[in-house]
Amino acid sequence: MILHSAAFYKGPLKLAILDLAGTLLDFGSCAPAGAFVQLFARLGITLTDAEARGPMGMPKHDHIAELCRLKTVRHQWEEMFGKPVTDADVDTLYDGFIPLQIDVLPHYSELIPGALESVSAIRRRGLSIALTTGYNREMMACVLERAAEQGLKGDVALCADDVSVGRPAPWMAQECARRLGIFPPSACIKIGDTLVDVQEGRNAGMWSIGVSISGNMAGMPIEKWKTLDAQQQEAIRQTAAREMFRAGAHAVVDDITECPAVIDTLNARMAAGGEPDSSDGSYI
Ligand SMILES: [Mg+2]
Repeated sequence: MILHSAAFYKGPLKLAILDLAGTLLDFGSCAPAGAFVQLFARLGITLTDAEARGPMGMPKHDHIAELCRLKTVRHQWEEMFGKPVTDADVDTLYDGFIPLQIDVLPHYSELIPGALESVSAIRRRGLSIALTTGYNREMMACVLERAAEQGLKGDVALCADDVSVGRPAPWMAQECARRLGIFPPSACIKIGDTLVDVQEGRNAGMWSIGVSISGNMAGMPIEKWKTLDAQQQEAIRQTAAREMFRAGAHAVVDDITECPAVIDTLNARMAAGGEPDSSDGSYI
């Protein structure tokens, strides 16, 4: 038997697939978290911010279905309505969620500090830029419009509605690569702020980077983050990194501003034979 050992593609990276909320804009990914809490509050069901953030990154319909599986939600729901949550209830909740989410999106679409410069730095390294999101098409249109006003544009932008199954399935990331004609998967890097973002990248056979502070893992607006002392910040950073590495991240960074340097490191790794699925300790 002859085993293939050397990487067949030695770089460089050609495509960066960037998540939107919590990665490029909306520091803390606060828009969806708040809307989920509000959605359930309208029914008299209490959902904490942390509970609301658990499935973050998934398509919003799937996210609501996951929230309905939470023990605390199930108990409250059954007490309130005298029966378990049905699929039809999830559909109704999702219909109610859409306007709630769209209402708040324009107020939570400010670019994360340094995002624009970082995207330019990534482009200068020869990579195309794809934007992806767990928002539906209408929500994404709203966010993209606000992003464009601030100077941020991708070469392609896809949402959960554009593929059969959203994160953590690989299809959104793979469809971005397909539309831009970029391959192999090891020429692509996925960057996102949730565990399902990280898993999506790995499931797609790509390099997968987690951002720990600007998004859902730290889960707070930048003003609040800045009030924490160094020790509190480090504890959050460590916990987030541990979870993202467990989900399969090749590297975990605070935010998008560290990503151009990660790309340089990965290009060097690939030139030396490193590939996303290698288990030779070539991760950063
Ligand atoms: Mg996100």
